Amino acid sequence: MNRSRMLQQLDEVKVWDIIIIGGGATGLGTAVDAASRGYKTLLVEQFDFAKGTSSRSTKLVHGGVRYLAQGNIKLVRESLKERGLLLKNAPHVCHNLSFVLPCYSLWQIIYYGLGLKVYNFLSGALSLGKTKIIAAKKAMTLLPTINPAQIKGAVVYQDGQFDDSRLAINLAQTAVENGGTVINYCSVTGIIKENKKITGVQFTDTINGNVYEAKCKVLINATGVFADKVMQMDDGMMKKMILPSQGIHLVFDKHIFPAHAALMIPKTSDARVLFAIPWHDKVIVGTTDTQIDEPAIEPAPLEEEIGFILQHINKYLQVNVQRKNVLSVFVGQRPLVIKNKIRKSSLMPRSHTIIVSNSGLVTITGGKWTSYRKMGEDAVNNAVFSAKLEKRNCITETLKIHGWQNNLDKSDALYVYGSDAKSLKQLCVENEDWANLLHPTLKNIQAEVIWAVRKEMALTVEDVLARRTRILFLDAKAAIESAATVAKLMAGEMKKDDSWQQQQISAFSKLAKQYLLS
Ligand SMILES: Cc1cc2nc3c(=O)[nH]c(=O)nc-3n(C[C@H](O)[C@H](O)[C@H](O)COP(=O)(O)OP(=O)(O)OC[C@H]3O[C@@H](n4cnc5c(N)ncnc54)[C@H](O)[C@@H]3O)c2cc1C
Repeated sequence: MNRSRMLQQLDEVKVWDIIIIGGGATGLGTAVDAASRGYKTLLVEQFDFAKGTSSRSTKLVHGGVRYLAQGNIKLVRESLKERGLLLKNAPHVCHNLSFVLPCYSLWQIIYYGLGLKVYNFLSGALSLGKTKIIAAKKAMTLLPTINPAQIKGAVVYQDGQFDDSRLAINLAQTAVENGGTVINYCSVTGIIKENKKITGVQFTDTINGNVYEAKCKVLINATGVFADKVMQMDDGMMKKMILPSQGIHLVFDKHIFPAHAALMIPKTSDARVLFAIPWHDKVIVGTTDTQIDEPAIEPAPLEEEIGFILQHINKYLQVNVQRKNVLSVFVGQRPLVIKNKIRKSSLMPRSHTIIVSNSGLVTITGGKWTSYRKMGEDAVNNAVFSAKLEKRNCITETLKIHGWQNNLDKSDALYVYGSDAKSLKQLCVENEDWANLLHPTLKNIQAEVIWAVRKEMALTVEDVLARRTRILFLDAKAAIESAATVAKLMAGEMKKDDSWQQQQISAFSKLAKQYLLS
């Protein structure tokens, strides 16, 4: 995946079959689907791939236990199928994880035990393992720091966990390997029409300021919480349909929760869901569901949200964590679609919505990461219908994602690169310094920076520290301390001077401070 080659294709292709705006889970899933069906496909993303919500999820590949409680069997069944497909098609970035749900009464054991057995039953042949009811003592061995007070037993069920932005990068690579073109740092600023029908888009390369016009047969709007803005570019009279709902996560050192399983509290005292999840040697605690007026690309956590997580984690675990113990706080915004006049965000359905406008714009939004493949399939089906493209079958149910590799050695710090890990390690033969750690407290090596620039279209220090590696999300202070090394390595590869390095270090440090709680 090479950005100059991608830009070159803008000159070579006169009319694209499908142009996609937005390089998050939805847009990238759509690009993989469209390219693998053989449509000439272009995707443009205004920042970096997965810079939006798609790098800020709870990292679960799940059917949605709470949608089961709401009786939405169809949505749960569909998501469980997608969960199973994802674990098969991208085993290097997704895996099975046990979730322990402590029960504080016999009634809870029966209610959650039965519910989660149904949850597993609905996954059919793609089941990740049986749901079990266990004694309180066993729950305490699985969750060593759990507060044992009042626990009567627990339910253990299986779900998936993944690395969201690594999967996003691998999807971009898969799209390219199937003939697609994907370009980051290109912001769509206008829609071109002839006789009221869309014929293309105008966008600006924010790296060099170049302005492009690209023609297409059909345009797909996959801009998540920003979908209204693109719809209004198409039709100034369009009413808002997105209700952004924000969720935050606090990341801690794993000693507060030294478990291999995750903790799931389905209903806190104020009826919210709380997870504590081991991830890349740390623990993620979240999340919240707070209605927000305007979408933001770098949303900030609210004091109330931080307070909720700190209060509840100190209640359910035998720990005393405070703001100073938080290694990173990251915030994402769900693109929930206003339907049936339900405005309270936690009641909003998480299924996706597709709208085809009179001009031919196909907008796809809502849904969740787990369902990205199905969303891509549905978006392309609608685009093909709307633009009367030649019909071709979707092949993504069995399409292996870039990096696919089975039987991974999870003790290898580079396992998340899957089949690329071998070539990445070869870089340390080219320059043995690149085998050095980026930071003494992290497992990431310098070669990952070189790899990110050469193979994964990383253009900034933030791209490397936030989304190619996950250092910013795991430990913001360590990320700031690594910025100078990353800038230097990138400058060597990209032939950039000292002032570029200084500008990158300063921009990244400013951003990363938002991931720290003062
Ligand atoms: C707190 C939280 C936790 C979640 N946890 C989970 C989970 O554990 N599992 C799960 O399955 N789902 C989860 N989700 C849902 C999931 O993360 C989202 O549904 C998904 O990431 C949305 O992807 P998207 O591509 O639609 O949006 P985004 O990822 O936001 O992508 C949209 C992209 O469009 C780009 N864009 C916007 N305007 C333009 C323009 N003019 N030109 C070019 N590009 C543009 C943006 O820069 C952005 O990158 C969670 C969501 C939140 C908020």
